[in-house]
Amino acid sequence: MSNDKQKPEEHEDVGLYQKMADRAAEFMQEGRKTLEEALNKAGEEISSGGEYTRDQAEKIAGYLRRDLTEVGKKAQLARDAVFEAVEPHRVVAGVQSGLSRLLKTAADVLNEVAEKSEQVLEFKTGEVTSPGTLTCKDCGKEMHFKATVRIPPCPQCHKTHFRKSY
Ligand SMILES: [Zn+2]
Repeated sequence: MSNDKQKPEEHEDVGLYQKMADRAAEFMQEGRKTLEEALNKAGEEISSGGEYTRDQAEKIAGYLRRDLTEVGKKAQLARDAVFEAVEPHRVVAGVQSGLSRLLKTAADVLNEVAEKSEQVLEFKTGEVTSPGTLTCKDCGKEMHFKATVRIPPCPQCHKTHFRKSY
């Protein structure tokens, strides 16, 4: 894959994540789409635009799916708190988009993924994820994020595996 116009990877990935969340939410709000269908359609549309490759779109769709699954595990307990955690600025501004819109349009999907997600999800350095708290699996150091980020290495021990909470 070579692309002269490539932006710094971090911004590119975060931007793509937010774009995919927004488009998938729109597709779901149009109705009769499962989360998978909405993600696929968003990925096709975005990669056909030429700005991003199909591989990038699929990678980012994977991150989104994982974040939704992780949120889904908690959603039945405290859905409103989760909405606020995933997009604090948007909630304050009274604007909903991206992940929180996806969550609202995907209530059934969340129940479904919550049931399937007994396994512990891994979050690794270099991946993109929604706001929340990442805890280093090696040393226990916590990092708090209030925006979508590309995950850095642990600031304390420089390891690359985390679990997530909100
Ligand atoms: Zn650490």
